[in-house]
Amino acid sequence: MKIAFFSTKSYDRYFFERYNASFNHTLCFYEAQLNPDTAPLAEGFDAVCVFVNDQLTRATLSILSRKGVRLVALRCAGFNNIDLAAARETGIRVVRVPAYSPHAIAEHAVALALTLNRKTHKAYNRVRENNFSLEKLIGFDLWQKTVGVIGTGQIGAAFCAIMLGFGCRVIAYDSFPSPKLADRGVEYTSLDTLFQRSDILSLHCPLTPDTRHLINKESFSRMKKGVMLINTSRGAVIDTKDAIDALKTGQLGYLGMDVYEQEENLFFRDLSESIIEDDIIARLMSFPNVLVTAHQGFFTNEAFEQIATITLQNISTVEKGADCGNEVPYQPNPSL
Ligand code: NAD
Repeated sequence: MKIAFFSTKSYDRYFFERYNASFNHTLCFYEAQLNPDTAPLAEGFDAVCVFVNDQLTRATLSILSRKGVRLVALRCAGFNNIDLAAARETGIRVVRVPAYSPHAIAEHAVALALTLNRKTHKAYNRVRENNFSLEKLIGFDLWQKTVGVIGTGQIGAAFCAIMLGFGCRVIAYDSFPSPKLADRGVEYTSLDTLFQRSDILSLHCPLTPDTRHLINKESFSRMKKGVMLINTSRGAVIDTKDAIDALKTGQLGYLGMDVYEQEENLFFRDLSESIIEDDIIARLMSFPNVLVTAHQGFFTNEAFEQIATITLQNISTVEKGADCGNEVPYQPNPSL
């Protein structure tokens, strides 16, 4: 197929060109984000390949359809950025990569928690300036702490396994509890109990109408004072303004976030010489106990190899008229 890639970086081109050798699709890489203004670039292509912050709105999909595009291949797991009803109406099929090294994201969530706790980012800078003082670097043992996990699918399960290895008590909330995890020692509880008991809370659920702003003023008030919150799922699961208020009072003791509600205007770009107009992220980054990474949980060699291979396989299978098993079923858009 002829495929137009949007929101691409050097690493997308590197991995996709490398793995396309065995698929022989025609690939064209655009740096532009896909939205109604850039959708005309897809003219003459059979498929578009998109990422988390591309805007597959009704307007974009209708332009893509008029330009002859028949397939949207997501090179990610989440599909909250697609208007699935509009895709159905325009006859555009949607495929995704439901699982690619859940360990990559789970390990990144752990990295955020360890960094916030032991302040290795600050220690690194200090010793480079010959400051060997330990003042204000004190952390806490993870052993025997209670870790709450919301969403125990692929990534949440990998995260639970790591935290059990640290000797933590792991409690979890999911509408579909996993008997395997329960056997390994994960205790499923109500959301309320999870909020009350967790020393560290890690989010691994998708963004849906149920989970949008699941973490808000009211839920912060039910948590332990000084709780650590880690979010590698989707930004809008947390009400960011409420998180800032909770940080100001100390109710929220640490915040590690790999995803952010308004990330599409910031993440994956070098804005080091620009004025950041988003005052919320600017305020967040002013806190000493907040650590932001720019949606890099998935960014390992192993995960990228799988993303490229599965995406190209999905496209080849659809081209042959077969079922790739990774088609996103048409249903009302879960995140709108
Ligand atoms: P998954 O589908 O395997 O697991 C999601 C789990 O969440 C399921 O067990 C589901 O039952 C549960 N869930 C759904 N609604 C819930 C609710 N209201 N409350 C509690 N649990 C609920 O998905 P996954 O592969 O583990 O990925 C989880 C999320 O991680 C994705 O949806 C995506 O948003 C995010 N993600 C982030 C990155 C990154 O780089 N930071 C990469 C991949 C995925």
